[in-house]
Amino acid sequence: MLSVREIKEILRRERITISKRRGQNFLVDGEIRRRIIQAIDIKPEDEILEIGPGLGALTEDLAQAAAKVFAIEKDIGLARILGAKLFEYRNLNVITNDILQVEFEKLTPGKLKVVGNLPYYITTPIIAYLLEKERSHVKDVFITVQYEVGKRIVAQKNSRDYASLSVFAQYFTAARILFSIPKRAFYPQPKVDSVVMHLQILKQPAVAVKQQEQFFKIVRSCFNQRRKTIANSLTQRLDKQDKLTVQQILTQQGINLRARAEDLSLQDFADIERALSKKEGFRL
Ligand code: SAM
Repeated sequence: MLSVREIKEILRRERITISKRRGQNFLVDGEIRRRIIQAIDIKPEDEILEIGPGLGALTEDLAQAAAKVFAIEKDIGLARILGAKLFEYRNLNVITNDILQVEFEKLTPGKLKVVGNLPYYITTPIIAYLLEKERSHVKDVFITVQYEVGKRIVAQKNSRDYASLSVFAQYFTAARILFSIPKRAFYPQPKVDSVVMHLQILKQPAVAVKQQEQFFKIVRSCFNQRRKTIANSLTQRLDKQDKLTVQQILTQQGINLRARAEDLSLQDFADIERALSKKEGFRL
């Protein structure tokens, strides 16, 4: 694994400056690398997509153990260095692209294990992209994210960290924090600690809803105004009569109108969505 001195030397020689804007923090702790690779539990038939391989802290181990590795790196300079360094791995394909532009089905017909020490500036868009758009081509996701984001992903109702991201992630996956990584394991050091997470894609979403888009709109609307009661969040744009009808529908479903977003489980949100879908023309 590259030391801080070697990383500095490569970047100097190749005239590359580390880009904070691209969330470039390179892993320099061999023990953490070993633990991440062990957690991924790579099988010889696995096809892996690595997001943001950088200078390849994980990439060589992935290529040694898996059938195929697609390493998607947005930074042309880093992708060039990595491609040259690991050129002898015929099963490794370093692709210069933005992960949010990659259509997974064009890489392989199989299901991918997605791995990545995510660039912090787009952690949530990447998770949304993986789960909403590319989920059917993915079986497992092993990502390193900021500690705060990790806590939000696994938070349960009645906790301060519970947010729309918790509901979103737990709707599509079984999410676990595996272990934490101190900031000193990276060069340059980020401001915060990180956690390694496993998100296992569920065969079916965790709860049944009528319309997924409407479900997420309801969740977002309730959490955007988390101090308000859900009855207020959900009826604020309606006239008096419609407000009453919606409140009646919710009450008939046993939903407490005084509850706030953080009091509601995924099942509660799903019940609300199904109840509101009965009201003709209800739109948030
Ligand atoms: N995996 C390497 C490591 O652990 O040392 C680098 C991790 S660094 C936190 C994030 C990497 O993602 C950087 O190499 C950065 O250039 C790359 N990156 C940033 N935005 C990206 C995007 N939209 N698509 C693909 N890669 C991106």
